[in-house]
Amino acid sequence: MCGIFAVTDNKNASKLAYVGLFTLQHRGQESAGMVSDSGGRLLYYSAMGLVNEVFSNEVLANLKGRSVIGHIRYSTTGSSNLKNAQPLFFNSCLGQLAVAHNGNITNAGRLRAELQKAGAIFQSTTDSEIIIHLMAKYRGRNLEETIAKNLRRLEGSYSFLFMAPGKVIGARDPNGFRPLVLGGMDGSHILSSETCAIDVVGGKTVREIEPGELVIIEKGKARFKRFAGAGSFTRCIFETVYFARPDAEIAGRTVQTARYEIGAMLAREMKDVKADIVSGVPDSGTAYALGFSKESWIAYQAVFMRNHYTGRSFMQPDQALREFTARLKLAPIKDLIRGKSIILIDDSLVRGTTSRKIIGSLKKAGAKKIHMAIASPAVISPCYYGIDTPTKEELIANNLSIDKIRRFIGADGLYYLSLESLVKACGNGGDRNFCTACFTGKYPTKITSQD
Ligand code: AMP
Repeated sequence: MCGIFAVTDNKNASKLAYVGLFTLQHRGQESAGMVSDSGGRLLYYSAMGLVNEVFSNEVLANLKGRSVIGHIRYSTTGSSNLKNAQPLFFNSCLGQLAVAHNGNITNAGRLRAELQKAGAIFQSTTDSEIIIHLMAKYRGRNLEETIAKNLRRLEGSYSFLFMAPGKVIGARDPNGFRPLVLGGMDGSHILSSETCAIDVVGGKTVREIEPGELVIIEKGKARFKRFAGAGSFTRCIFETVYFARPDAEIAGRTVQTARYEIGAMLAREMKDVKADIVSGVPDSGTAYALGFSKESWIAYQAVFMRNHYTGRSFMQPDQALREFTARLKLAPIKDLIRGKSIILIDDSLVRGTTSRKIIGSLKKAGAKKIHMAIASPAVISPCYYGIDTPTKEELIANNLSIDKIRRFIGADGLYYLSLESLVKACGNGGDRNFCTACFTGKYPTKITSQD
């Protein structure tokens, strides 16, 4: 997963982009970068690390200009190194050009092979670079036409930000898998992965970019253009389940509200399960547990002390590091746990390693019983659209029955939310469509080749 943020026509562009990216930090922690438009000349800077490690005051001051696009990266395609940090920047036959991408191009392998065969030399191993090579090869009458015709060659998920001198262009794939929202602030335009970053910089959300739509921001004005028909809008349901910040709004609902309701639905589905307290695995589990508590009348208790300085454990691509940071992250508060039977809620169960560790530490702290409740259905299929789920073989629900998973994680009970309830809560009861491929194995687009 990644986060993208752009701000135009503002004298503090790089500082605002810093605040925007900082707010989106939960979407990626490996690298960060910005490209600014300094009077028609693009300047760029990127480095490995967190936003506050990458951008010093000096770096921000050097990113001169009134428009900036920025990116924070968590790698799903291409390894974690500086060459793959974004925005990617090019001096091309189209002039100076930069691109920032959130998503995963599912026909990247084939497109890359075709382009390389025709002589293209790639500077990174990301799938994001493919669009630039396509654009250099298949040109239209102007930049937006060139972008539009080449986006149609891509399969999979993408929200893109492009920058060329005098222009910022945003694009969202025809299924709208990944989010992209337009905001405004005193004559400036903002594009962001999540509404919360628009709020934090002091802007107002205008609307989502539609699936298959381009927004062209030029000379202080935003224009919209379709590059693909309005196909089926299948936004990723995992954004609400896990990825997005609780104060972001998705499909007309604040994520926190949706999670609270999901928790209540889980309580309804688990009405026969008795416990002394209900708790959530911080941070995302907390809202679910509060909703569960309200519905079930089982008291909520925060049984973990979360260390906020470790980063998201799953975000470390290396397994050894992942295990180490997981141990650092959550410390059980023993007094609240000893002798208690606990309903413990987490947003998802993927490999089962997190639940196993957490239940182990609660049992060690004296818990009598742990009923593990998952605020989503069993993950049975890999995500090809940018969520870092492992291969089918590594997905525990694909290999073991519910009872065997329960035993593996060391729980006294294991419960998953039904897909029906999840979709209902995320879509505000309306007819919103979501991509639920990770829970059903039904992919809304064809999956041709992977990198
Ligand atoms: P696992 O330990 O493999 O079962 O993963 C489940 C845990 O990882 C849950 O606590 C989730 O909050 C978290 N999680 C699930 N999916 C992701 C993801 N794509 N990226 C980061 N964390 C995730």
